[in-house]
Amino acid sequence: MDFELTQDQQIFYDSVKRFAVNELADGAVDRANSDGYLWDIAARLAEMGLLGITISESKGGIGGSLTDAVLAIQAIAEVCPRSADVVQAGNFGAIRTFAEYANADQLARFLPDLLAGKGVMSVGMSEPDAGSSVTELKTSATPDGDDFLVNGSKVFGTNSGDAKVFLIYLRFGPGTEGIGSALIEKGTAGFEIGPGYRYMNGESWSPLYFDNCRIPKANILLGSGGFKKQISGFNIERLGNAARAVAVGRKAFNEARDHAKTRRQFGRDICEFQGLQWKFAEMQMRLEAAQLLLMRAVTRADNDLPSAQDSALAKLACNDAGFYAANEALQIMGALGFSDDNIVQYCMRRTRGWMIAGGSTEILKNRIAEGIFERRFSQRPPKPAKDGA
Ligand SMILES: Cc1cc2nc3c(=O)[nH]c(=O)nc-3n(C[C@H](O)[C@H](O)[C@H](O)COP(=O)(O)OP(=O)(O)OC[C@H]3O[C@@H](n4cnc5c(N)ncnc54)[C@H](O)[C@@H]3O)c2cc1C
Repeated sequence: MDFELTQDQQIFYDSVKRFAVNELADGAVDRANSDGYLWDIAARLAEMGLLGITISESKGGIGGSLTDAVLAIQAIAEVCPRSADVVQAGNFGAIRTFAEYANADQLARFLPDLLAGKGVMSVGMSEPDAGSSVTELKTSATPDGDDFLVNGSKVFGTNSGDAKVFLIYLRFGPGTEGIGSALIEKGTAGFEIGPGYRYMNGESWSPLYFDNCRIPKANILLGSGGFKKQISGFNIERLGNAARAVAVGRKAFNEARDHAKTRRQFGRDICEFQGLQWKFAEMQMRLEAAQLLLMRAVTRADNDLPSAQDSALAKLACNDAGFYAANEALQIMGALGFSDDNIVQYCMRRTRGWMIAGGSTEILKNRIAEGIFERRFSQRPPKPAKDGA
């Protein structure tokens, strides 16, 4: 067992951190408070080779490991939390499931723009009546000659107002087995993008409407039976979410520590108050424990696809620790931390969202319990007993 990064990993982390400190530290608060995708940052990260880190060189990616991608996203998040969303979109989000399962034609059509930071892919899983119970999704794909007709709607998709291509989870038939996905481009007839709504973390999302939207077979990513593969790709998304949560919590922790060293009340530096020292001890313990679970999930990932159990444990720990630390950091910084021009209020709002997105903390606990007891616990109501039973 070795808790240290290898020399190459340390050099890589240090170089990304240096870039972040030199190039992204200025403007971090403005970016945090801004709307829309950071296209300028996407172009710079692409130039730096920080998009497509885990995608093989043969597909046009960098050919690095999942550990490299986690180091990169954390080095950026610790300096400019909002820029780390671009690292997510370029490495851990829909792009990763897409790159894993797309055929050569699909890769050629969509991947170059995504890797160049000129495009972003949004994933549409959630529907008005299918949130945590995502397998209840209704948006359907019905064969029609050589094409499919898509009908239904999606909600809550990150980057849905900025994406040119969408990875849409679709129902091809009944049950979980009937779920697959397709790539649907903005501008396709019958596909409408609704008005933008704002999350409290500043991200926006737009509802997506499909009304007899005709797509060619060539746009199907995974047909019927594809759900399990999509979810194993989604475990990577969960780790990107976990990695940012703990790093953004660490960013808030560092801001609060610097503040506590110099802010004076009652004639003393506030770090001399035991009530605050204990907060820091608790924050550090939670952040470091979560980071260890994250790195265990990453290093145990088979072929860079982490297990569902490891990902759930890591995401739960990182989401809880990230929000806990950011919220406590805000408290320690008082009114300053609660002000718009301070990054800590953003860290608190940002980490809060990850407790809902990508598998809420409750759903993760359900998943972890299934691993503990080695059995499935259906969340659905029991079927009514038959007459006479
Ligand atoms: C910041 C953010 C980004 C997102 N990005 C995307 C995206 O890119 N694409 C996309 O498709 N969706 C996205 N979502 C939506 C996200 O996937 C859903 O919000 C999530 O699945 C929960 O669904 P819901 O909000 O409908 O809550 P519900 O499913 O209605 O749940 C409500 C509450 O009940 C709890 N609950 C539900 N079922 C159970 C159960 N069986 N046991 C215990 N508790 C339960 C939940 O944990 C939650 O606290 C995003 C959400 C957020 C907040």
